[in-house]
Amino acid sequence: MKLQLHWKIFIGLCLGFILGILSRIFDFQDFITGYIAVVGTVFLRLLRMIIIPLIVSSIISSVASLGSAERFGRLSLKTFAYYIVTTFFAILTGLLLVNILKPGVGSRLGLQSMPAELPASAGRIGETLLDIIPTNPFAAIAQGDIVPTIFFSLLFGFFITRVPERYKNQLQNFFQGVFEVMMLLTQFIIRLTPVGVFALLADITARSGLSVFVPLGTYMLTVAIGLLIHGAITLPALISMLGRVNPVHHFQAVVSALLTAFSTASSSATLPLTLDAVRKNVGVSDDVSGFVLPLGATVNMDGTALYECVAAIFIAQAYGIELTFFQQCIVVLTALLASIGAAGIPMAGLVMITVILQAVGLPLEGIGLILAVDRILDMMRTSVNVLSDTCGSVVVARSEGEVLKL
Ligand code: ASP
Repeated sequence: MKLQLHWKIFIGLCLGFILGILSRIFDFQDFITGYIAVVGTVFLRLLRMIIIPLIVSSIISSVASLGSAERFGRLSLKTFAYYIVTTFFAILTGLLLVNILKPGVGSRLGLQSMPAELPASAGRIGETLLDIIPTNPFAAIAQGDIVPTIFFSLLFGFFITRVPERYKNQLQNFFQGVFEVMMLLTQFIIRLTPVGVFALLADITARSGLSVFVPLGTYMLTVAIGLLIHGAITLPALISMLGRVNPVHHFQAVVSALLTAFSTASSSATLPLTLDAVRKNVGVSDDVSGFVLPLGATVNMDGTALYECVAAIFIAQAYGIELTFFQQCIVVLTALLASIGAAGIPMAGLVMITVILQAVGLPLEGIGLILAVDRILDMMRTSVNVLSDTCGSVVVARSEGEVLKL
């Protein structure tokens, strides 16, 4: 009997976790972090290798085949409306929970040291807005700057529809061809996912163990419950109402991508698997999935937004600072912006919290409070980020009258 991919990934994940724990008990972490970790790095590098060509080819071929400016506009509008609304729901869920459970009140937590790169990344939202426009698209592509790459690809794809027929066909065929090749490459790399996930989990567990979780238990629980509510109630309700799709079937169709998101903590690195699952198992067209998913992996981060709201207010509570209603509104707004601005890479959300802390005048050192458990929360929130992207593609595809496989 052939085991389905997502089961293999799940087994890899569990075995990795067990091995990581054993390495801490029997003191062979060095073997894990020195040797086994390399396998995880190889897997991550393979995924990263295909991200940029995949994003460029999927966006250009999808936008070019949308045909008209009107369809492009309509799709963009629906996609962004979905992103904003779901992210907003996520933040409100977090806000509500952190105010009810109050995980930071009375907690006596030691500050861990700040990661060196944090202060420099703070307050970059203004610059980030300008950075969307690449001064040299080839440099952006070469350096792997995803947002400017997306911006240029959207424009390039759009203007393909405006050139004379014979160029249009040539270019469309070319980029569609590149996209098909990238998807085949994806399927090849996907086969390595169980082993890659195993190595990543073993490495993470060997490095951090379980003891760091104890003092931050309630905080983690608040984020976890929030993510669960969003992932298991809000999003399913949305796709069954707007997408007329059975959420359980949808979940089964995309579970490999979710497990990969969990292990890599990167929406971008998961994008190849997300695209594959949504096209093959859910049956969303290339036009819609090629447009909605690469954008979603960078812009739509429900889990990150929820986590950021909880974390910022948790820090305020831990410092004994009472936030006014107006300040909480600022937290909600900046959490929305910070989640849009966060890149689809590990720890991006943690870095963006500095933006919120600055906006409401909380000490930046507060980040040190939550550092130790960030990786595990990152894994959880990334899964919710990816789940929301897949739900978005269903909702948009349905609204465009597509017939799905679910
Ligand atoms: N790791 C998350 C992602 O890739 C972003 C974050 O750090 O919240 O979606």
